Amino acid sequence: MQTRRKFALKVVAAGMSTFPLAGQQATAPQAPPAGRRVETPEEYEKHPEGDPIPGQKWKVHDLQRPQPPKVTPGLPIASPSAPADAIVLFDGKDLSQWVSRQRGGGVGEAKWKVENGYVEMVSQAGGIETKEKFGDCQLHVEWTTMPPSEPGHYGQGRGNSGVALMGRYEIQVLSGFDNKTYADGMAGSLYGLYPPMVNPTRPEGEWNAYDIFFEAPHFDGAKVVKPAYVTLIFNGILVHHRVELIGTTSITPLAKYQPHAAEESLVLQAHVGPARFRNIWIRRLKGYDVI
Ligand code: MG
Repeated sequence: MQTRRKFALKVVAAGMSTFPLAGQQATAPQAPPAGRRVETPEEYEKHPEGDPIPGQKWKVHDLQRPQPPKVTPGLPIASPSAPADAIVLFDGKDLSQWVSRQRGGGVGEAKWKVENGYVEMVSQAGGIETKEKFGDCQLHVEWTTMPPSEPGHYGQGRGNSGVALMGRYEIQVLSGFDNKTYADGMAGSLYGLYPPMVNPTRPEGEWNAYDIFFEAPHFDGAKVVKPAYVTLIFNGILVHHRVELIGTTSITPLAKYQPHAAEESLVLQAHVGPARFRNIWIRRLKGYDVI
């Protein structure tokens, strides 16, 4: 246990937790130095596990949890342009819809790199978040990870970014074609809760698509009146079907809710990268019979 605790502290210090998440944004999001090796295959075997997950037979980051079967998705991966009632968050040209959280809690210009129709994560710049805030939504986002510029990047240290709904509920972005990590932290996982039912991740350098359907949680003061639910179609394949979230994504401690507003910014996480995003659009879901 002692060894695991020590390792956990080392891991957190190295920037392996899943921020920037809104509950942790009072200070600038941390990121490891560029190119830093964060995890080796040997370290994976010693990775700290967390608390038992309610309703499951697994612990958070349970190393015994099976890796989902690989499924080659139908190709090419669909890249639909935004429907007329969508809000285009990134069309390949600029980050005018985004800001970066700064030290002290303010916001500034989003400093990720835009080129060739995509935006590339700059881990030192911290995560980027939408100016506009959202609750229930349909979100389309495409991503790819690239081979690291130097050897020695594995597991959570390889292509790690994330799509954090409301800045809190992370769907993992990670090199996932040939990069083993704990199942509930792989590409397409609801981080620390469920791996995807199958693994349709494309090889590094090829684009993936997430179509996310999200129901925001409702709070009455500190009480959760309705939990959040997520559905994820990953490269055209259903991998999560209206899964109830148990709270703000966390590393090894069990997730738990922290009350927040009805609408919050969408965050793209700065982590170890390299990761790129393109064609990001979102629709607010207002329900039936709403004109
Ligand atoms: Mg991540």
